Amino acid sequence: MATHDFDYDLFVIGAGSGGVRASRMGAKHGAKVAVAEEYRVGGTCVIRGCVPKKLFAYASRFGKAFEDAKGFGWSVTGASFNWPTLIANKDREIDRLNSIYIRNLDRAGVEILQTRAILKDQNTVHLVGEDRSVTAKTILIATGATPFVPELPGAEHAISSNEAFHLKNLPEHITVVGGGYIAVEFAGIFAGLGARVSLLYRGPQILRGFDDDVRDHLAAEMRKRGIDVRVECEVAAIEPSNDGFELALKSGDTLATGLAMYATGRVPNTRGLGLEEAGVELGWNGHVVVDEYSRTSVPNIYAVGDVTDRVALTPVAIHEGAAFAETVFNDAPTAVDHDMIPTAVFSEPEIGTVGLSEADAREKYRKVDIYKSTFRPMKHTLSGRDTQMLMKLIVDGESDQMLGCHIIGEDAAEMAQVLAIALRMGATKAQFDATMALHPSAAEELVTMSEKWLPEQAEAAE
Ligand code: NDP
Repeated sequence: MATHDFDYDLFVIGAGSGGVRASRMGAKHGAKVAVAEEYRVGGTCVIRGCVPKKLFAYASRFGKAFEDAKGFGWSVTGASFNWPTLIANKDREIDRLNSIYIRNLDRAGVEILQTRAILKDQNTVHLVGEDRSVTAKTILIATGATPFVPELPGAEHAISSNEAFHLKNLPEHITVVGGGYIAVEFAGIFAGLGARVSLLYRGPQILRGFDDDVRDHLAAEMRKRGIDVRVECEVAAIEPSNDGFELALKSGDTLATGLAMYATGRVPNTRGLGLEEAGVELGWNGHVVVDEYSRTSVPNIYAVGDVTDRVALTPVAIHEGAAFAETVFNDAPTAVDHDMIPTAVFSEPEIGTVGLSEADAREKYRKVDIYKSTFRPMKHTLSGRDTQMLMKLIVDGESDQMLGCHIIGEDAAEMAQVLAIALRMGATKAQFDATMALHPSAAEELVTMSEKWLPEQAEAAE
């Protein structure tokens, strides 16, 4: 069929971060575009992910700030927290962002179809809610991912992050299962808002894949904040009890809790989409297999974001969506560079990181130099809070190039974003050292670490 034989030049399934960017950019390049969304325009990040989570994280930090204020001469009395107010205000903000996303798509001339859409063949999409089919020359799958909860007796009693954003009230004790981004973030949020929290992780240390010092440091800081972090701990069954649930642990112990939240990973949203029927190859986890231009095994079908098995982060999906539009609608083949992606974990305290962990660097490079600093941030000399900030630099001992930076502490995310620019530019440790410190700041530590961390120091610290 010629182009004009199709209803659309581009049909996008999923109006999240990747799908919206691709739709708008495609339309900007002159394509006739429609996007189908079965839930809410904005996707996981805006509606039930990054944005509301960060608002919750802000909310959770006030309690400690009120305590810390005392050391600076403030007396804070009568402070109390109201969960329904936070939920209502968060919902209002999410509604506002949702409207902006819709308006931006409208302005770009993208047709929004509020329905589930499934593939019938490589050029035909069935709109389930409207019981009709449309055709498109190019199809983009941008359906994201959904929480995964392992099979176990009573799994139906557990909530995921989806429900956490709409709880009617905050139980007195909450158990979070998992040791990844979402688990540690919500453990910090719930604890900061006043709940007692247990975090149960199956492995030897939380945040597998992060630098080992970061993992140990965060676990220690979470415990200092009263979070009951249990490693090598697995749940065998969940049973309702009079005032919540009883978790039967594989160790034979039980744990009574008001709420069990599972944050045990996310799986790509590909089930029932008609992808296999259209000939699209799926990978081990049900993800869509793509090449560097986000093209699937069917030449006119592409996929971006969490539905592929690349890096499940919003800015990555946005880049992939934009690169897809450049490739297909602007005659400029563009591959996304997935190197040196900064990332933050909005735990308490927060983590900001870019580049390789020490363990990964040691696998890839012959000589690796480590610089580390653990210190009490100036603010806490007066607040009296027992907390330490960690900064760690990973350097190629042969070329002096910076390979990784890892920070835990206030504003770590903000620092990681800026550090990512330097690391992408190939900055060396000597260039960090030649940079004037900004005093007094925590970040000045990044340019004043002159002593290499030696293995003997690690032994002495043990
Ligand atoms: P993660 O993959 O980060 O973590 C999943 C956790 O669940 C791991 O600790 C994993 O353990 C554990 N787990 C997996 N399967 C089981 C099981 N069967 N039983 C018990 N534990 C299990 O997933 P999240 O859900 O936390 O987040 C999904 C993704 O979303 C993240 O990877 C990240 O890319 C993105 N995200 C980013 C955020 C940010 O940028 N701040 C915030 C939130 C999410 P193990 O390590 O042993 O496999």
